Amino acid sequence: MADDEAAEANRTDCFLCNPNGALVFHEGSAGIALAGLGPIVDGYTVVASRQHVSSATDLPGLALKSFCTYAEQIRGKLVEIYGSCLMTEHGKAGLCGMGDDAQ
Ligand SMILES: [Zn+2]
Repeated sequence: MADDEAAEANRTDCFLCNPNGALVFHEGSAGIALAGLGPIVDGYTVVASRQHVSSATDLPGLALKSFCTYAEQIRGKLVEIYGSCLMTEHGKAGLCGMGDDAQ
């Protein structure tokens, strides 16, 4: 791993590693869920992994599986409350393929 890649992987100063506590509504061992700024719909949510990565798809296998499970739990709660939801992550790819079905 190049020095700049190692430095990026060890960052903890981004807005998801140190989120605004007023926006965080759930914390789990694999991730956090926070209210999205400029909500597009009620319950608009951003989920982020506990590990600093540029996208959830960069998480190693087990961590990705745990994060996807976490995100699915949050999605389920949002659907219970709002009937549907819009959930995203801040990264280069969306969570379109949750877990083993990802392509
Ligand atoms: Zn981070």
